[in-house]
Amino acid sequence: NPVLEVNHLSICFDLANGQQAKVVEDISFSVYKEETVALVGESGSGKSITSLAVMGLLPIPPGRITSGSIRLNGQDLLQMKQKNMSSIRGNEISMIFQEPMTSLDPVFKVSNQMIEGIRRHQAVTKREGFAIALRMLKEVGIANAEKVMHEYPHQLSGGMRQRVMIAMAMANNPKLLIADEPTTALDVTVQAQILRLMLKMKREHGSAILFITHDMGVVAETADRVMVMYAGQIVEEAPVKTLFTQPKHPYTAALLQTIPSLDSNVNRLPSIPGTVPSASQLPNGCRFAARCKHAMSICSEKQPEIMQFEHDQQVRCHLYTEKGEMVSVE
Ligand code: SF4
Ligand code: MG
Repeated sequence: NPVLEVNHLSICFDLANGQQAKVVEDISFSVYKEETVALVGESGSGKSITSLAVMGLLPIPPGRITSGSIRLNGQDLLQMKQKNMSSIRGNEISMIFQEPMTSLDPVFKVSNQMIEGIRRHQAVTKREGFAIALRMLKEVGIANAEKVMHEYPHQLSGGMRQRVMIAMAMANNPKLLIADEPTTALDVTVQAQILRLMLKMKREHGSAILFITHDMGVVAETADRVMVMYAGQIVEEAPVKTLFTQPKHPYTAALLQTIPSLDSNVNRLPSIPGTVPSASQLPNGCRFAARCKHAMSICSEKQPEIMQFEHDQQVRCHLYTEKGEMVSVE
């Protein structure tokens, strides 16, 4: 059974001008125990909104879940009372962000915030909470854990703050860890260390990870399975190897070209020309059509349906017929 199961989830935002922005439309996916599933896409694709909905942190209003369900170990989170949801958050589901300062409180020492987070969900004394916090800091590879316990977040380096945040996130043994661009602000070496640490913690605690990123290089290093999101829809889903070797959706193929190669002298990544359409002005047909090299006339008329291929690959694109063959190749 999946740890997380999202079924036909749609989210819209009611805008001040009376318009509606369909930020997420009819997405379905599952994340299994000890699996790392990446949700990739450019900013504005709806990936962070999806993760906020899973955490029960969507701003409602103006946000509105118009359909679908989100289940954690079979329990429907959308039917749950706020009070019960806050006992799940930080406990059964934890989240780490790009900027640790958003979840670390600058006025409290590391020890105080960790102990508070632990005691909110575990019936332990302060002393026991301290011992758990210290053990967690050691687990995330902080050598001088005793010293760090007594420091304030601003006294720590970016990489160290990220380690503390991971220690906090894992302290209550979450079933699901949501990581939203956790390494984007870090330099490449520290980024690699933090990614390895996340995977190690996942294995040791038997959690599942939903990893949100725009970086296909990071996806290649961490994910078991990948979902590519574009303008609120999942346009392709596949095991990581399949996605990298046989991408089927033109958007996936374009994203793969944004990975810098080690031997290239180009330090600017070729980005995909054009922008993600606004969620309040979505085209009738394929949402990627305006940027797609392969666009055909049907693409601007009709939305492609999701099609299932072998190797657990799913694609939403008119290039493929029902039999899974390409209609046109360039
Ligand atoms: Fe391109 Fe058409 Fe496929 Fe959309 S449906 S990605 S426009 S080929
Ligand atoms: Mg984001």
